[in-house]
Amino acid sequence: MAIVDNVVSVQKNIPSNVTLIAVSKTKSIEEMKEVYSTGIRDFGENKVQELTFKIGEFYDDVRWHFIGHLQRNKVKYIVGKVSLIHTLDSLRLLEEIEKQYKASGLTAEVLIEINIGREESKSGIYIEQIDEIIEACEKCSNVKVKGLMAIIPKGNEAECREYFSRMKQLWDKLGQRNYENIEMKYLSMGMTGDYEIAISEGSNMVRVGEGIFGKRIYLNKQKEE
Ligand SMILES: *Cc1c(COP(=O)(O)O)cnc(C)c1O
Repeated sequence: MAIVDNVVSVQKNIPSNVTLIAVSKTKSIEEMKEVYSTGIRDFGENKVQELTFKIGEFYDDVRWHFIGHLQRNKVKYIVGKVSLIHTLDSLRLLEEIEKQYKASGLTAEVLIEINIGREESKSGIYIEQIDEIIEACEKCSNVKVKGLMAIIPKGNEAECREYFSRMKQLWDKLGQRNYENIEMKYLSMGMTGDYEIAISEGSNMVRVGEGIFGKRIYLNKQKEE
């Protein structure tokens, strides 16, 4: 199916309160323009170099979402360029984001990434680390937390539902508290294979790549993060 048709069929499954992010990693500017032509303005990338290249080549009215593991030494390249960093996954990264945004007089909007499936291969903090990172975020002047993000383990529908529902409970719980700098506005979860389940469990931001652009082809066994 053509990209434009893919967008239309994905959008049919997405209520208006849910933000659809087109995950364009590895995809060309030409392909991204097709998606843009359907009205989509939220694009997700997982590599800093690819992201900054594409920002230079693509339309200005796009909201860029950084969804990959963010190395501390690369934070400086994305300051002021992305609308949301989905992957705050450590205190040291928080410190660096605060430092770089402060130096530019800008404020970063971030999601805390939760490793809800406790997988060693994945980034994100464990649930028991949440209080510590929240406390640190409350002290920041140039970082605002806007919600949570998760990449769940592969599994069957029931297993997916269980992880999504645990994320929703955590998001609700944190949302009821009155923290400084922290607001539970977005719950970013759900990808091509499971975004409908994620939405039914309370996601309001889904990140869809292959369901829009078709299969990704990686050269040189590039690793996905
Ligand atoms: C690649 C990626 C996606 C999109 O995955 P698809 O299965 O292609 O929809 C979503 N979230 C993150 C963090 C990704 O890296």
